[in-house]
Amino acid sequence: MTLTDPDYCIATPPRRPFKARGSFVTRCETCRLPVLNCLCPYQVKGQSEARFWLLTHSLEHNKPTNTGRLIGDILDTTEVFTWYRTAPDTVLLERLADPSFAPFVIFPDDQPDYAERVVGIEVVSDVKQEGRIPVFIILDGTWRQARRIFRKSPYLARLPVLPLRTDRHTRYHLRKAASAAHLCTAEVAAELLRQSGDVEAADLLDDYFEVFNDSYAESRRHRKLERPTAAMRRLLERQ
Ligand SMILES: [Zn+2]
Repeated sequence: MTLTDPDYCIATPPRRPFKARGSFVTRCETCRLPVLNCLCPYQVKGQSEARFWLLTHSLEHNKPTNTGRLIGDILDTTEVFTWYRTAPDTVLLERLADPSFAPFVIFPDDQPDYAERVVGIEVVSDVKQEGRIPVFIILDGTWRQARRIFRKSPYLARLPVLPLRTDRHTRYHLRKAASAAHLCTAEVAAELLRQSGDVEAADLLDDYFEVFNDSYAESRRHRKLERPTAAMRRLLERQ
């Protein structure tokens, strides 16, 4: 089956006259990018001590511009759970009850009512020393959706909250961010990996995200990236 995305065509009308209105973009079934700039050749597997569990808002799951899925392409240990307010994922609940994991909710510390749960990134090395696996739980959705997930999920309420502190500015140009300081999900993950010592995995994810970002943007202009970018070349060398 070919995946198509009619909304995408409405948002970006084709520039070439022979492309009639209503024409659709053919997407790669695996990476979901337009086949013109398929991401698959650049998928490299990495390894990390820390893991990611994505708690993804149900409305975010099928968006091709979602970058959360890039994390799982690079790190096989990544798990993705769909968030529904009334029905917590039973596998996620099992994971949370498993003492071999040390989960952290990645969320800003801008509200006083959970101040006592806030920890710093240095705690990650402490849990590694205890022989536990650090897990970053990322609430994957729009800012509003993430806040709702945080507030409406009682099973997250006892977990430590780890705000990501970084000066990094977003390079994501597929959706308009409210500010340059708002990183997209893949960027957040790369930064967490970097700050907690999984530098090689961070580099891989950063490169992979960059290729996704460039390829998608180019596809919107109905162009193919002709020459491999620096990030593409680095990933190809790792194959
Ligand atoms: Zn592909």
